[in-house]
Amino acid sequence: MATETPDFSSRPQRGCIPEIPEIPEIPAIPEIPAPARPAADGGTTADVVVIGAGTAGLAAARHLTGAGLGVIVLEATGRIGGRMATDHVDGFRLDRGSWLPVPDGPELALLPRPLPLARLDGGVLLHGTGRVQRVGARPRRTDGQGGRSSLTAAFDQAWLRVNLGRMAQTAESRLLARPELPARAALATRSVPARIAEGALRPLLTVLLADPALSASCRLSDLRLRAFARAGLSLPRGGAAALPELLAGELPSGTVRTGVRAVSVAANAVQTEGHGTIRCRSVLVATGADRAAGLLDGLRVPEHHPVTVLHHAAPQGLPTGPALVVDTARRGPVAHSLAASAADPSRAPRGRTLVTSVVLGREAGEPPHLLDRAARAQLAALHDAPAREWELLAVRHDARAVPATPPPYAAERRVRLLAGVYVCGDHRDAPGIGGELSSARRAAAALCADLGVPVPSGTADPAPDPSLTARAV
Ligand SMILES: Cc1cc2nc3c(=O)[nH]c(=O)nc-3n(C[C@H](O)[C@H](O)[C@H](O)COP(=O)(O)OP(=O)(O)OC[C@H]3O[C@@H](n4cnc5c(N)ncnc54)[C@H](O)[C@@H]3O)c2cc1C
Repeated sequence: MATETPDFSSRPQRGCIPEIPEIPEIPAIPEIPAPARPAADGGTTADVVVIGAGTAGLAAARHLTGAGLGVIVLEATGRIGGRMATDHVDGFRLDRGSWLPVPDGPELALLPRPLPLARLDGGVLLHGTGRVQRVGARPRRTDGQGGRSSLTAAFDQAWLRVNLGRMAQTAESRLLARPELPARAALATRSVPARIAEGALRPLLTVLLADPALSASCRLSDLRLRAFARAGLSLPRGGAAALPELLAGELPSGTVRTGVRAVSVAANAVQTEGHGTIRCRSVLVATGADRAAGLLDGLRVPEHHPVTVLHHAAPQGLPTGPALVVDTARRGPVAHSLAASAADPSRAPRGRTLVTSVVLGREAGEPPHLLDRAARAQLAALHDAPAREWELLAVRHDARAVPATPPPYAAERRVRLLAGVYVCGDHRDAPGIGGELSSARRAAAALCADLGVPVPSGTADPAPDPSLTARAV
């Protein structure tokens, strides 16, 4: 264990960790002593201190403990999970976020145990004026869900089926080689009928990116659309908190300390608010972008997209079933809505339905009671049900829910700032859970390499999927 005095004045200085260009390599801390297991609960030494027990911090801690390192995870609040939280209210399970994982995501496949997922078998209902199109249903359904059947509708449905099928089989490398543009501009340059671009693809991409302006890089939007076309969407069974709980369950007991806020970071120690100093050989900051920049001067903080989630209780089942309903006609503030308990019955008490709806963009900042009032008529139309009678269970707003990713798209941002100081989270990779799991894995691998500890097999980069190349068009 390091014996030198913690030097908080040696924390990375503003300007020493530029994002672009990359900083020159800084030599690893010399004379790395033998690994030190953390002392029992309340101890003040460890090989690694991870700051933040959100998904990224817990995932990184799992990789690091798997490498045999002694790890302490500090969490400022009284619970684990960060933004991936699920509140239990009157028998309902209410997510604070709006995560709809793609079931075959490569990072999910690397979890120590499978995360139980409920597929949205009904796919996505694109609910426009006078017609409803369904995409991504499993098995494929041909019903128009109440829409008027017309030659135009049949053409659009066939166009979407064929082109999403092509997208599913396009190699990732080919999508990443396309010219960089904001997703909205890219959509306009492609040979997509305007009616389909506006009435189907724009709203679908808005859902997949949480970005109604489609300001994200088209490379990210193409990757998201491809992932959706390949596997559809799902819900984590029991709520989004199932993922951090799964990760925390893999850690040695006493690893996570809740109610402990880190206030200052050096490469060999972390100072906490009211819990003294914890000495260590390496520090990994996994707090989300804003807090990370407060601990590590010079770190770039991206813009974020706001998200508001409305939870309603309906007294009955809904005709839309386990399908994500997307309002392509923009009747009100809600971008998309789902009878969540139709897909995952554990989310509502027997005989009632949990309806979870998401507001994106500027409207997400409106006061909750106004949003609820404005959403009722819209939800009634989208779900073909008397939404005015529904009980409002909760409104969760986060002004900085999802990092923005304008072009140029750099999925893998730097996670090693210097030997002994690392950072991970949704701001270091593709935004969303897959990105933060990937950034946690990369940070843990870099940290192990600096300490000369073998990287566990599950921490290394996953092997490329050979089917992607074989099926490339
Ligand atoms: C409303 C909403 C909607 C979302 N929608 C989606 C979506 O549709 N799809 C998707 O993929 N993602 C979505 N997300 C984002 C997803 O929830 C986040 O990407 C993810 O939870 C971030 O995980 P993280 O571990 O990087 O950070 P966080 O979950 O923010 O965890 C960071 C942790 O660090 C702790 N911490 C901070 N400072 C300190 C300190 N000084 N000392 C100790 N601990 C500290 C915090 O308390 C927190 O627990 C949404 C998020 C929200 C809020």
